[in-house]
Amino acid sequence: MKGSCACGGIRYEFNDRFLIANHCHCSICRKVHGAALGTFGHALKQNHFAESSLV
Ligand SMILES: [Zn+2]
Repeated sequence: MKGSCACGGIRYEFNDRFLIANHCHCSICRKVHGAALGTFGHALKQNHFAESSLV
């Protein structure tokens, strides 16, 4: 799976399944995501690659 933040400044890739996926309904996640919830996938660090063009 590949993806990025909205502006493309941070890109990520990982080559495994999520260990856990969840939705969070706390007030911070609702505000940050501009939605009723935030959705998260958790993966092992060794299967994950991220880079930033903003540094
Ligand atoms: Zn939350």
